[in-house]
Amino acid sequence: MNTLKRLAAMRSVAGLRQPQDLDNPACVVGADQRCEHALVDQALNERLYAYEQRVRGRFAPIVGLLKTLSALQHELDFAARAQQLAHAQLGYALPDRLLNDAWIGGLDLRALHAHCIFCSFKACIEGAATDQAPWLERMVIDAAFLRSCGYHTVDLSPCADGRLQGLLPFVLRMAPNDAVTVKAYAGALFDVEADVADWTRRELERLSGGLVGAESCNYLKIAVYHYSSSNPCHQGCAAHGSQDHLATTAATAKLDELRAAVDNSFGRGAAPETLLIGMDTDTDAIRVHLPDEQSANCPLRYVESATLFRDTLGLSAPAAREAITRAVSSAARDGGLRPGMRQLVERLLEANLSQIEYVIQHHEGRYADIGHNERFICAGEAMSELQLRNKFYFAHLDTVEEGAPDLDVGIKIFTGLNVSRGLPVPVLVHFHYASRVPGARERAISRCRRVRAAIESRYASLHAQGLLHCQMAVSDQDGSERCTWIDVATVASGH
Ligand SMILES: [Zn+2]
Repeated sequence: MNTLKRLAAMRSVAGLRQPQDLDNPACVVGADQRCEHALVDQALNERLYAYEQRVRGRFAPIVGLLKTLSALQHELDFAARAQQLAHAQLGYALPDRLLNDAWIGGLDLRALHAHCIFCSFKACIEGAATDQAPWLERMVIDAAFLRSCGYHTVDLSPCADGRLQGLLPFVLRMAPNDAVTVKAYAGALFDVEADVADWTRRELERLSGGLVGAESCNYLKIAVYHYSSSNPCHQGCAAHGSQDHLATTAATAKLDELRAAVDNSFGRGAAPETLLIGMDTDTDAIRVHLPDEQSANCPLRYVESATLFRDTLGLSAPAAREAITRAVSSAARDGGLRPGMRQLVERLLEANLSQIEYVIQHHEGRYADIGHNERFICAGEAMSELQLRNKFYFAHLDTVEEGAPDLDVGIKIFTGLNVSRGLPVPVLVHFHYASRVPGARERAISRCRRVRAAIESRYASLHAQGLLHCQMAVSDQDGSERCTWIDVATVASGH
């Protein structure tokens, strides 16, 4: 990217108007200032970009290939040519049955589209260890760092919106690991009862000696809401009608409820620590809200990384870090911020500067697709193997009854993205099981079937028109089985 374009991108991400005189870069950054931010991890950004390219490259050829197949479907050697093209462009086969029957009633492009989305996703799962290894080792917030801040577990609940799916490695630069769990809900409105159960299980593990080295550590709950700085009224959180103040106060209220639930059930002081983060889905910049004396999360008191990026550009690394510390102290008014929490907040803000730079460098400071562009809906439990913006909409649920509001938002999004142009909504129903527990795999499969049937019944009209394709899969949380398709033959037909 040339200097002027880059400067325009930097102003964009910092929320500034474009300068009058773009021919004179000095009016943006002082003549003696550097363009690169001293706290940006450029090597990590390059590794993340290679990952983004690789993952997007598995989905990008699908539509083009299907258009080619549509044009070729009446050729005599169609099935063989289709398989050759699929192998060359996507790296996997297409179902023979769909290809062989094309001469009778035409090619079922909807079924093929869903098949390809799921197979490309599976390729990401299979390649995850190789794909992620280069950036995993450079993540600045890992389990050891979290423990040094005093946390044995970090439980994140972002909004289910696909634009937040790159949250861990990209936006927060946090390594996915056993100490970090992500459960997304529409509007970040997490399930308090389910969270109390998760908190209880982890505390039991800690108290029974299962978390070696973390005996004196605490549990941290983080809620992540989102907003759009360039189109706040339309591209904010759909679950809150794109009203930022509602997204913020609703997430704050959920965190309050969780603390009260634990305190009231297990005694005052037992409650986990909580943290509220806002994310600008146009630029990936964050807003970290600071807990006050009561350990509450104030919706109005926060530090914004975009402002820090602009204010510390051109400073040396130590001077930029000092500026971050000052900004946090000033916003917190030194009101009861625990040293470990302060260390985490400062690290989150610093780490996000690299993501701001990433979006400047690779997406001109603001994503071209500021709205939705997900490929499928994942209902049930997500896999940590795919961590990328706008790849899927994730509705965490145990039953469709409980997860209905999240699913409804997802179906609404895909009605605009897919159904409006005749493409089906691909829904992956996925659950984990513990192979150490007898019968758990069969129960996970039964749960998949129940959830699939409930989804097909809730969206019966879409299903009847062949515009809903459910794929079921299970993964072993203890062993090596990952995303095994269940009942593939039945699902491939879409009925
Ligand atoms: Zn949202």
